[in-house]
Amino acid sequence: MIQYLDYNASTPIDTQVVDCIMQVYKDIIGNADSRTHKHGEQAKQVVENARLQIATLLGVLPKEVYFTSGATESNNLAILGLQAYANTHGKNHMVSTVIEHKSVLEPLMQLQKQGIAVDFAKPNGGGSVSCDAMIDLIKPHTALVTMQQVNNETGVVQPIQEVGEYCKAKGVWFHIDAAQSFGKMVEELRRSSYDMLSVSGHKIYGPQGIGALVLKTKNYKRPPLCPLVFGGGQENGMRPGTSSVALIAGFGKAAELANHNYKKWQQHCHLIKTSVLQQLSQSKARYTINGDQTRCVNNTLNLSFEGINSEALLLALKSEYSVSNGSACTSKDYQPSFVLQAMGLAPEIIASAIRLSWGKDTPSINLDPMLSIVQDMQSC
Ligand code: PMP
Repeated sequence: MIQYLDYNASTPIDTQVVDCIMQVYKDIIGNADSRTHKHGEQAKQVVENARLQIATLLGVLPKEVYFTSGATESNNLAILGLQAYANTHGKNHMVSTVIEHKSVLEPLMQLQKQGIAVDFAKPNGGGSVSCDAMIDLIKPHTALVTMQQVNNETGVVQPIQEVGEYCKAKGVWFHIDAAQSFGKMVEELRRSSYDMLSVSGHKIYGPQGIGALVLKTKNYKRPPLCPLVFGGGQENGMRPGTSSVALIAGFGKAAELANHNYKKWQQHCHLIKTSVLQQLSQSKARYTINGDQTRCVNNTLNLSFEGINSEALLLALKSEYSVSNGSACTSKDYQPSFVLQAMGLAPEIIASAIRLSWGKDTPSINLDPMLSIVQDMQSC
């Protein structure tokens, strides 16, 4: 059996989530926005129950959760949706980091083309962007600060709490891309101060194609976003379109499972990481670990085997492991990782970097086949 070690790209869906989705497909036939009949009401109830499950995991109000198709759409909505506000309030400036996911970087680049200035903070060699580096870029006319909580390639945690507090004090809108931390860093997220937060179903054992943008209310008002699509007014007009009731139900179920089990799952991931590090240190393979491990999540390890091109290694490992050398969105054509480049790593380290990521369903990781291939390649 091939070992699946690409959980940061997508997690396997939980069987309880599948059962929940199937039940909804079988039993719920209405449109959640049909007000005039029972079938519509039942669909609405399913959607609102899921909204509550997600809100509970995050510690926010259900009405602050807006369903989208995933974190990509949520990030786009948080960033592009603020353009009109930025233009009309003389706040034509945004701040982010160079190591964001493409679904943050690309909308920001679109805004740059339309006259909004964007400053990007750089990480240190360990892959974290300091709070000071962010603060240095924030100006009186900054409309938005957007940053991820956990980097998808390295697993390194970013200082969202400190940056969030600063933004709150200065009255700057703060958005977090929590695609990789939602359902994992539960308490940290509940404690954090933010205005907008992007999450995704398929990173927490839920279905692909569903996510949410959380818009916190202050004095009964949500952040001044302009929707990106217009239509039937669903999701309070913020994201119109017929709600995907079954996917939403599955997402809610996944959030409920995470809420009950996240501590156990984190412990499990930690044990796996310990075992992976032990197997590496006991082998003769020459390797370096990328990213400051004191700031790294329990389910990710980015490493480089000396002198071995990652593309060649992944090909050689294909019958044993599903692993990647970066984000799934950028790994179709090989490009050296912009995240590792920004960390200032040597080109040969970047060319040999691979990412292992795992989760609750990973029974254990056996690195023997990988290490024997690596040792053969290194002894050539
Ligand atoms: N942000 C980060 C940090 C991610 O890792 C991902 C998924 N690779 C996304 C955003 C996009 O999420 P989705 O697949 O739900 O669009």
